[in-house]
Amino acid sequence: MAYKITSKCISCNLCLSACPTGAIKIVNGQHWIDPNLCTNCNGTAYSVPQCVATCPTYDGSVIERKDYWESWFHTYNKVVTKLTKKQDYWDNWFNVYSQKFAEQLQKVSIPDGIER
Ligand code: SF4
Ligand code: SF4
Repeated sequence: MAYKITSKCISCNLCLSACPTGAIKIVNGQHWIDPNLCTNCNGTAYSVPQCVATCPTYDGSVIERKDYWESWFHTYNKVVTKLTKKQDYWDNWFNVYSQKFAEQLQKVSIPDGIER
């Protein structure tokens, strides 16, 4: 299985020079990965596919899956991971906000005779 460029590609060209095998080309104005040259970056100095690592979009370059259900589960897992991370983001945001708010409350001077 090789990687392929998707419709999410914004033609930034970053992956062109990043690909260690020169597999990424522009054909008829579209970015395209030659499956005969793409090695999934195996056997190179990189531990992750460079077209994915350099792509500024979420999935401008993805592994091409021949099997429908394999592809379906891959997309499902990515979406779930994305949503789960978002949940973490808002949990963290709320925790930091609450902590900062509590710190600010501690700094507020209370007039004499009023209990906190
Ligand atoms: S996975 Fe690696 S070899 Fe294949 S197109 Fe992407 S950067 Fe090039
Ligand atoms: S890095 Fe991503 S957005 Fe940029 S040309 Fe390559 S696939 Fe397209």
